[in-house]
Amino acid sequence: MATKNDATWLERKLTELCPNITITVTRDAQNNLVASGASTLGSFTERSADLDVDSREEFYSAVRGYFLDLDDDTARGAVKAAVPELPYPSLQLTGQEPAGTTSPDDENGVDYIGCGATECAGDWDVSYLAADGYLWDSRRIDAAEENDVLAGYTVCNHCGRVYPNAHRYQGPMPTVARIDVTTDTWLDALDLYNHRTFATPLTRPANQKEQ
Ligand SMILES: [Zn+2]
Repeated sequence: MATKNDATWLERKLTELCPNITITVTRDAQNNLVASGASTLGSFTERSADLDVDSREEFYSAVRGYFLDLDDDTARGAVKAAVPELPYPSLQLTGQEPAGTTSPDDENGVDYIGCGATECAGDWDVSYLAADGYLWDSRRIDAAEENDVLAGYTVCNHCGRVYPNAHRYQGPMPTVARIDVTTDTWLDALDLYNHRTFATPLTRPANQKEQ
């Protein structure tokens, strides 16, 4: 039989689990637990009576997946809304994009971001965009902004998928855009980026005047 304490316990557990949505848990007149989750993307309600469970732990196990889904969608929606208009030609997202992957970098205390696409997995060949969507450039961006890595994005050099650095500690990491890495605009910009960041020789004709 559910008690008021069970509702309080469930509300705390679900709120800890799903920080991006608003959760309330109450009891109805028949003493059933009623859990509701809501965000800008929608809401849903689950009742213990409908799930054939006897304890608050069973109810929590039964509903946590529903709430996590809404929480993930809400987090992705918020990031997507924050993506700047990229200054490079981009491809349409399919709606079936992979999630990015991370690997701890013990030396620098941050996580590397890698592409989640099957054909790119394990490669970790990426470049970095600043918060405004342009490739990082120490001549353009001041040191404080350049060091604010969580505000920027990681781009897979192979397929152009863009992942928000802000999600590197709180997966899943959504694909929020995809740059067309075959265009002159991108290849010229990447050539300059590699030159200024890693001192590689310039290879693109458009950049020869930089030599
Ligand atoms: Zn990729």
